[in-house]
Amino acid sequence: MSASSDDGLLPWLEAPLAQALHGTRGHALLLHGMQGVGQFELALTVAAAWLCEGDDPAARPGGRACRGCAACRLIAARTHPDLMVLVPEALQEALGWSGSDEAADGEGGKSKAKPSREIKVEAVRAAVAFAQQTSSRGGAKVTVIYPAERMNPASANTLLKTLEEPPGRARFVLASAAPQRLLPTVRSRCQSLRVPLPAPDVAAGWLAARQVAQPEVLLAAAGGQPLEAHERLALGVDAPAWLRLPREVLAGQAATLATWPLPIAIDALQKLCHDALAIAVGALPRYFPADGLPAGGDVARLTDCSADLRRAARHAEHPWNAGLGVEALVLRVRAALRPGKEGDAQHSRRPSLATLK
Ligand SMILES: [Zn+2]
Repeated sequence: MSASSDDGLLPWLEAPLAQALHGTRGHALLLHGMQGVGQFELALTVAAAWLCEGDDPAARPGGRACRGCAACRLIAARTHPDLMVLVPEALQEALGWSGSDEAADGEGGKSKAKPSREIKVEAVRAAVAFAQQTSSRGGAKVTVIYPAERMNPASANTLLKTLEEPPGRARFVLASAAPQRLLPTVRSRCQSLRVPLPAPDVAAGWLAARQVAQPEVLLAAAGGQPLEAHERLALGVDAPAWLRLPREVLAGQAATLATWPLPIAIDALQKLCHDALAIAVGALPRYFPADGLPAGGDVARLTDCSADLRRAARHAEHPWNAGLGVEALVLRVRAALRPGKEGDAQHSRRPSLATLK
């Protein structure tokens, strides 16, 4: 099976791309879907199609970019003068986009402290100014914003005026995994297009083509999000580690989890709790194979434990002792997973999570 089309587009993005290119008319598009399905890739593909100058319809199936014209070459080199890509500083390296120079220079630029996880107002101001300039190549002026929910309120308000009255040939593609966190006024000015989760066989095939072992296991672990599954592999979340996790947690061991970044370790524990709860109420687990999960967990204890984990997740980026935190959480989950009296006893002297408050 072909892992992707000729232009490298993720195979499950074909249908949403066709919709974006033919089913939308506005000047602003909001692509939204779960994390890890490729909204950013789709946003760039749409922007490239809008900017392509190729005039041979045969080279542009479905109105896509031809990848051969001068504009397409400039996009590939990331130097197209009519394309601006806004991503938070903290994501620029991972996404391979350094963003615009003006955008990166806001508030003293990169030299200071931690790279920002937000799309700052300076960056959006630069995008607004960019949209108002005359097109360098005579076509559209396209701004891609991802993840759009990372615009802080000042950023979103700055963009709003331009979204309401777009100058000349300005067009916007916003991409987001959390559209509910966008200002309603920003959302309402965009034409919305949902990027669905890929079919499991398509996603697993894509992972298998990347030499990922046991792709179904990792796909389930990532909630069906193939890009997420692929990214996590680089952090040590492989299939054998995932499959031994329930056993380790039941034994009170944090050996595997302690090697993962804390937010990912907490996410794994949340998924374990979720699946144990599913089994406790007679439903099917979603993230782990059923035969690796303990039976007989108590619904009330598991619900309680899930709430603790949600709290821990909110604090997971804080610089407290990560190793210690994971161990306390593993004991907490173990107590909730164990059946009957033993679990109750564990529960009554559960580890203190005071450090998480
Ligand atoms: Zn082209």
